[in-house]
Amino acid sequence: MSHMMHRNLRQTPPVAVSAQGMLVRDSEGKTYIDACGGAAVSSLGHGHPDILSAMHRQIDRNAYAHTAFFTTDVAEELADRLIAGAPDGLSQVYLVSGGSEAMETAMKLARQYFVETGQTQRTKFISRRQSYHGNTLGALAVGGNEWRRRPFAPLLIDVARVAPCYEYRDRLPDQTQDQYTSALLKELDEQIHASGPQNIIAFVAEPVVGATGGAIPPTPGYFRGVRSLCDRYGILFIADEVMCGMGRTGTMYSIEQDGVSPDIVTIAKGLGAGYQPIGAVLAQRALVDQLRKGSGAFQHGHTYIGHPVAAAAALAVQKVIERDDLLAAVRLRGESLRRMLQAEFGSHPNVGDIRGRGLLMALELVKERDSKQPFDPARKLHASVKTKAMANGLMVYPMGGTIDGVHGDHILLAPPFIATEADLSEIVSRLSDSIAAALD
Ligand code: PMP
Repeated sequence: MSHMMHRNLRQTPPVAVSAQGMLVRDSEGKTYIDACGGAAVSSLGHGHPDILSAMHRQIDRNAYAHTAFFTTDVAEELADRLIAGAPDGLSQVYLVSGGSEAMETAMKLARQYFVETGQTQRTKFISRRQSYHGNTLGALAVGGNEWRRRPFAPLLIDVARVAPCYEYRDRLPDQTQDQYTSALLKELDEQIHASGPQNIIAFVAEPVVGATGGAIPPTPGYFRGVRSLCDRYGILFIADEVMCGMGRTGTMYSIEQDGVSPDIVTIAKGLGAGYQPIGAVLAQRALVDQLRKGSGAFQHGHTYIGHPVAAAAALAVQKVIERDDLLAAVRLRGESLRRMLQAEFGSHPNVGDIRGRGLLMALELVKERDSKQPFDPARKLHASVKTKAMANGLMVYPMGGTIDGVHGDHILLAPPFIATEADLSEIVSRLSDSIAAALD
């Protein structure tokens, strides 16, 4: 019996003993193709020699330096690189240890900005019902995942919510895509008024929804509309790119594809690509300048911010992405994966939707394709697909949840950027067997 508290408290998962490239091997000698990068983390696959040697070098030079005393060349160079590729105006970087910490940091930075400008009445956030922003109390409060929130609900700050941009389920048959998008923006405008525009700190959203529904991209123009509403009322826009950022969707930041610049962006997962726990917050210079001019300090901090080994790993990841032209690879392989999924599942009676951006793709499983009727939640189909996939030597990320009273079973695919066509084809074939076995 393991003394570790695993996610499933009744079951000990296989013991991972080694990993290389697309493959993870367990203590029984069984190998698994990593088709989801864990949770969209391992973007360069496992055991990448360049990242390992960058980490070794940094450990030998200086494994730790507290940011109250020092900065490091690796942290500075990483920040420079992140900014060089970021949407307009994002010019300040704060390094943390993961996605939830990045979200807490973003929320506090946004709040402190308004305190510094004398707008202390701004205390509210607006987010979307289909969202996941992390498991710490602040991030959990803005997230819309009801199952994760339920036991902790009395401890969470009150957050206003609007509908997600979830075209597959929510666009009405007689609505054009533009009409659907306008209706969503009208709802956001109304929610802003219901909360009082002068009381809102920020609107928070994932440019491509990840862990609560899987790889759901926005409709064209949605985020341009969000940006202009935020501008109209002086509200900040926080883009949570923890899952969809760092090249996962074919551009370094997914929001680039929507043509807008957020005030604050959070990243993690692909930033360290799993080699080290690291996240970051990018902010517009004007925000941070306000703090500089005012109290002169950001009232925040964690022991491991700017960790040099984590920064060295993330910097090496950035260099490999550039040297090996991996953003282009993501776009190319993303299209291949979409084609293969369409060919395999395009007319499958239980696959309602195939969607995503770049190498962040998902299937939504339904009982009946035409009516989009979901499976009974008690069946936990997403979880059985994962179990069958593991038996078939395949790692895929399962998600089940209820949005607006409708249950969803989703399978997320986020293969490493180094995946070949042959890898993708093997992934789709094993996934097909696993879905068939789960439905049996
Ligand atoms: N935001 C998003 C969009 C995420 O997908 C996640 C993790 N699934 C988080 C925040 C939280 O990140 P972490 O698990 O590193 O705390």
